[in-house]
Amino acid sequence: MNLIEGIITAITPIHIGSGKSKGTFIKTLDYLPGRTIRGMLGFYLYKNDKQLFENSGINEDKDISKMGIFFKNAYPFVYLFSWNEIPGKDNIRLIDFLIQKLGIDWVKTAKIEKIDNGMTIKLTDRNNFLSLKLNNEQTDVKLEINDVITDKFIVKIENSKINIYPVVNDGTTVASPLVLRWCKKCDTLLEKGENECKNLEDNILCFQEGAKYSGLMSFDSIKERKLKRAKPPSMQIETKCPITRTGHASMPEGSDLSPYHIESISKGAMFKFRILVKDEFTESIIESLKNAGIYYGLGGFRSRGYGSIIFDHIEKSNLETKIKKRETEISMMKSKLLVVNSQLILRKGDETIIGFDTFKEYASRTLRLLGSNGNIDVEQNEAKISSSIAAGWSLKHRNSLSELIPCIGPGSCVRVSGDSMAIAALEFYGVGEMINCGYGDVYIIGDMA
Ligand SMILES: [Zn+2]
Repeated sequence: MNLIEGIITAITPIHIGSGKSKGTFIKTLDYLPGRTIRGMLGFYLYKNDKQLFENSGINEDKDISKMGIFFKNAYPFVYLFSWNEIPGKDNIRLIDFLIQKLGIDWVKTAKIEKIDNGMTIKLTDRNNFLSLKLNNEQTDVKLEINDVITDKFIVKIENSKINIYPVVNDGTTVASPLVLRWCKKCDTLLEKGENECKNLEDNILCFQEGAKYSGLMSFDSIKERKLKRAKPPSMQIETKCPITRTGHASMPEGSDLSPYHIESISKGAMFKFRILVKDEFTESIIESLKNAGIYYGLGGFRSRGYGSIIFDHIEKSNLETKIKKRETEISMMKSKLLVVNSQLILRKGDETIIGFDTFKEYASRTLRLLGSNGNIDVEQNEAKISSSIAAGWSLKHRNSLSELIPCIGPGSCVRVSGDSMAIAALEFYGVGEMINCGYGDVYIIGDMA
């Protein structure tokens, strides 16, 4: 098995149906569900490469042993700023970063200019200066404050733009664990059992109370003990008029047809994607993804020019190696908290359940099919569970919504114990129903709360 990771960039607006609309307002999700990426690729393969469609097991809905490809939800991936947009519209992004991450307040009123033939960005005020220097190869940027190098950034050339990414934050976005509480004022992670924030700022105790946060955050938040909410991609709304059979778009008098408003993710938005695929299909799947993204597209209103995406910065790695590395990390955690990172569908008999009663059963079954004998236990009594509704998606039923399924919501947590190798494998494969569609994704953190 290989793990394919990379970036999806929207080259047109994208609309991902959420099943929710308010009157004539049609909302979009702000991430790309695994089921949607699977639907796009499945449809492309069905039309263009029947053999790969059959062999890869992309069409399989139930039997994990027949699945040769697993899609994960692609969450927003946000660059810091674009080199080309400074000075200009990205000034605010750069200033925000310098204030929030490095505590440099004077930049609020600084003069921002580009010097050295555009290779240096300089910020100055009366008493201070700092510069960002792009190297000749355009591969990295160094931040110098009063001539001392204090930070480095990653450079990516995207659509002929030089985009700057932070180094430490690898851009991974996860569902925030519901057991954690963050200070309402300064976003510091509260200690276990703590009721007020003990963060010191200018020698003054913050002392605000904490609150849980449900939503997407940067994975670094846990390590840095500071909540970094994921910035949602920018959105737009377009108003469209239904076209009647007689072929004109204006509304006839007394007509029931009314204009509708499509919300969409703006062009340029980026998402980090992950796909597990069997070794023998890896190369052809990568090629097919690229073609499918451009010629077929993703989500709704594709005939109206929505949904085109590009896949790039693609890296493939051997999954077994990744699992072994993760096993070592997990084995060093004293107590392990499993956090649900996408909707998780568990059944008990014919019913789906909002609880971890059958988790162990599902985990063991998945592990057995993967050829692992490891064991995992869950401590249900301390679980924090939210509920959600998953969209069942079937390629067999004309690539469409097949059912709405009550399920466990992202951010739900349960303490787990057992074999580290088994836990690591589940972290990559997921657990429960339809793990090939991005459902049942989980991640593990050490004991934080
Ligand atoms: Zn605080």
